[in-house]
Amino acid sequence: MKKEFPQKGLDLERIKKSLEVGNNYISEDAVFLGYPQSTPHPLGVEILAKYIQYNENHVGTFTNKNMQLNMTRQLEKELIEMMGQLYGDEDVDGYVTSGGTEGNIMGIWIARNFFEDNVCLVKTDLTHQSVDKACNLMKISEIINIPYTEKFQMNINSLKENILKKFSIGIQKFIIVCTVGYTMTGTIDNVEEINYLLQELEKQYNIKFYIHVDAAIGGLVFPFISDSEFAFKYKYVYSISVDPHKMGYIPFASGIFMCRKGMQKHIEVPIKYAKTVMDKTLISSRSAASAVACWGVFNFLGKNGFKKILQDLIRLKEYLIQKLEEKQLAMVISDPGTNMVCIHFINTNNGLLPEQIEKKYVLDGFYIKYQEEEIVCYKIYIMPHVTKKSLDNFIKDLENTF
Ligand SMILES: *Cc1c(COP(=O)(O)O)cnc(C)c1O
Repeated sequence: MKKEFPQKGLDLERIKKSLEVGNNYISEDAVFLGYPQSTPHPLGVEILAKYIQYNENHVGTFTNKNMQLNMTRQLEKELIEMMGQLYGDEDVDGYVTSGGTEGNIMGIWIARNFFEDNVCLVKTDLTHQSVDKACNLMKISEIINIPYTEKFQMNINSLKENILKKFSIGIQKFIIVCTVGYTMTGTIDNVEEINYLLQELEKQYNIKFYIHVDAAIGGLVFPFISDSEFAFKYKYVYSISVDPHKMGYIPFASGIFMCRKGMQKHIEVPIKYAKTVMDKTLISSRSAASAVACWGVFNFLGKNGFKKILQDLIRLKEYLIQKLEEKQLAMVISDPGTNMVCIHFINTNNGLLPEQIEKKYVLDGFYIKYQEEEIVCYKIYIMPHVTKKSLDNFIKDLENTF
């Protein structure tokens, strides 16, 4: 029977009974391994719970306002300044979004309007499907899928060839989506080399480029682990999307979108009921609470705090890899600078795990091309709720099945 909208409100006790926390949240020996979600940072939960009741609407963008802002808006502005500094440009614009998808749509929307027409979008087969959604929404039909290398990064030689091929049929504007932390492998595109190639191509052929960086996974990982330059340090990077509800340990729904100063003007629309204000965001009404939660947790942790969490997670990941390899259970792909691994299990039925293991550890297998072959892999995210003991249980379960 389908649930009906009740004529008369239900008894409160009955409602509460239905809402008792289910066992998808608490479980004895199962561990959530397959997705980048975790128990949020307790301070994030506390802040969110505190601010949600005031129901403050953060409609608009605050980084381009010089006037006195109310307290939560001021904090959001500071948050974007902090993130801008971390990513190589303190002077960026941006706002707190609902997640990585919104940031990717924003970036590609701005890029498409910035170039006006005749654009081609460049990505790889590993690029997140939110970029496909953006192409569909923007009616971008010229799309190139660049092959990836054996290290699961965009192949730069092929990028050059493909751009020149399109250029020869009259396309002069390219949106390049670079991923810092692919969802399936955790690997990163080499933005530095790509940026350098684009610079050469612009010099030689006057081709125009816009790089959007999808850093949903890696935006709160790589800047704390690696010393190399990031995102806005590179000329052609105009926008970036980050996901605090993944490696930022903030409750859903929290994302951050940032772009070069003033770029949001390419998508702005007047607000009919507020004459002097322009709307420059994808979502209109949004909660102040996520912005304040990000501000609070990021300031509490600092760069050192993030680094410490990641070092511990990466150590646990190395432990898992060592066990898997020692017992010859799997072949592993992993960037040393991340807390995630992509695993191909050897000795199983085409690389597939038995259903009960998939279920217990919330794992989903997928096909990925590796050395000219399609193989089944699983991704594992080592997040703060994962313990050494839970990984030992996982290994034991694997040993018992193979
Ligand atoms: C998760 C993810 C997204 C989408 O983010 P949502 O927060 O789910 O909207 C985009 N890109 C990458 C690489 C991701 O991993």
